[in-house]
Amino acid sequence: MNCPHDESVMISLELNEVEIDYCTKCSGIWLDSGELELILGESEAMRKFLASLSVSGSPGEKKLKCPICDKPMDKVICDDEGKVIVDRCPKGDGLWFDKGELLDVVEAGNLAGSAETIELIRDMLKDSLER
Ligand SMILES: [Zn+2]
Ligand SMILES: [Zn+2]
Repeated sequence: MNCPHDESVMISLELNEVEIDYCTKCSGIWLDSGELELILGESEAMRKFLASLSVSGSPGEKKLKCPICDKPMDKVICDDEGKVIVDRCPKGDGLWFDKGELLDVVEAGNLAGSAETIELIRDMLKDSLER
């Protein structure tokens, strides 16, 4: 699979026993549909979060193409203030997180079932985040 951002070939990483696609060039992460729930666990917060995602109307940002179906992805707002925005395939293939956004989303939505999960994600992304 290629990065929707810079076309680099993404590598597979394991996070909480789930295989995710990671771009070593821009540190972005692709999660197939359902993988966010697998990594973080089903919870009331997760259900609410997924239901609350709304497509952003702001025309500013260039749309990225879904790495699976090549359709332009929607920008979806993940928090109340509209600061955390991720890309979502309009057909539901999955979600794209730019560098550091996965952690922003987890924190904004209060999605981690436990502090360990946050630590796990942070550890895995540490190298890229420190760069
Ligand atoms: Zn990339
Ligand atoms: Zn797609």
